[in-house]
Amino acid sequence: MKTDYDVVVIGAGPAGSLAAKTAAENGLDVLLIEKRQEIGVPVRCAEGVSKEAIQQFVEIDRRWIAAEVVGAKVYAPDGTEIVMGEEMAGNEVGFVLERKIFDRHLARLAAKAGANVLVKTTATGIKRVDGLVEVSMRSMGENFNAKTKIVIGCDGVESRVGKWAGIDTTLKLGEIESCVQYLVTGIDFDPEYTYFWLGKSIAPGGYIWLFPKGNSAANVGIGVLPSMADRSPKEYLDRFMEEVFPEGEVVEVVVGGVPVKGPIETAVADNVMLAGDAARHSDPITGGGIANAMKAGYFAGTVAKEAVEKGDFSAIMLRKYDELWKNDFGKSLHRNKILQQKFIKMDDETLNKLARSIAGYNLGEMSVKKLVLELVKKNPRLLWDIKSLFI
Ligand SMILES: Cc1cc2nc3c(=O)[nH]c(=O)nc-3n(C[C@H](O)[C@H](O)[C@H](O)COP(=O)(O)OP(=O)(O)OC[C@H]3O[C@@H](n4cnc5c(N)ncnc54)[C@H](O)[C@@H]3O)c2cc1C
Repeated sequence: MKTDYDVVVIGAGPAGSLAAKTAAENGLDVLLIEKRQEIGVPVRCAEGVSKEAIQQFVEIDRRWIAAEVVGAKVYAPDGTEIVMGEEMAGNEVGFVLERKIFDRHLARLAAKAGANVLVKTTATGIKRVDGLVEVSMRSMGENFNAKTKIVIGCDGVESRVGKWAGIDTTLKLGEIESCVQYLVTGIDFDPEYTYFWLGKSIAPGGYIWLFPKGNSAANVGIGVLPSMADRSPKEYLDRFMEEVFPEGEVVEVVVGGVPVKGPIETAVADNVMLAGDAARHSDPITGGGIANAMKAGYFAGTVAKEAVEKGDFSAIMLRKYDELWKNDFGKSLHRNKILQQKFIKMDDETLNKLARSIAGYNLGEMSVKKLVLELVKKNPRLLWDIKSLFI
């Protein structure tokens, strides 16, 4: 087995495959490793993503699209409905993916671009030696080391690469959503929409979602902040299912955590970049992370090429990667963290009041900025402090 690389990418989720694909397309010698024996399973995702986010990086292939939606229906605790068009609904609305197939497709694109892909291979540590990095791995029951100029850590929410490299990605209490999701069949809903239910009594610090998967099936899940909840997410979700979809049959269960930390100070160290959930790139309001993970992977792969060309793998050189993600989605991570802090504190009556103030508007024709400014206009005392985030 080859043991010298320009880049070793740890983790073959959307961030890792995009990083490996980009670096390999740029002529670098790349190893992509994934600890699971099958890329893409088990799925820990509601699988919603905007069309734009995907189209930017890959050609659409119907085999990994489970459903296409035109917008989102959002419900306040009292049932007041707000209907949003696809563009306004954000990064998680447009396609509902079949991630089992999608993640594998991305890894295949990385391999096609020239990356070596190894499954059932776990990174167990990294050590800097003479300006390079030695990555320790366990593959198919055997230990081996590879030497590389750059490590791109794409090892998801439970990332250890950041810690090994001395990058602060600590998640404090209140910075990680605890999620449970059911794949439910035999329920009645409009398959052209995703659904969100809000309220402290429904999902404290988070929300309940429904993402259609075709054939009367849907991902129905919940995210809560454990620091605000007095029950487990499963108990909240089971109560909701009993009330709203008592006829539903649960055929699959998913549990997982989503970082809602907001932007970290830096995602680089000497020889190391972090991308996707490992760098806490998921959105603090929605918890969505596919779109940013793909972008971050692409940026990391691009900067790796420049670093290898210059023969400089220092943190100072790799800060270019920080600049790229911060100037792109870093701003919305920052803004949405402030908004999340504000919204999770609102009681159910306040949410009802906000929803009622814009119920009946044709939001399909409004930009997010216009919507927020309209909400501020109707509820100045509640929302004045967030106005500056949008002007
Ligand atoms: C319940 C739930 C619902 C969600 N719904 C949505 C949604 O609808 N839309 C959306 O955009 N986002 C959603 N997310 C978030 C989304 O799944 C993540 O943001 C996204 O997968 C991040 O991609 P990634 O490549 O950074 O990490 P991941 O997809 O988590 O990939 C990391 C990979 O690294 C591997 N790995 C870890 N450690 C090692 C190691 N030491 N060695 C080798 N490999 C390793 C893992 O096995 C994994 O395959 C949801 C998350 C959860 C939990």
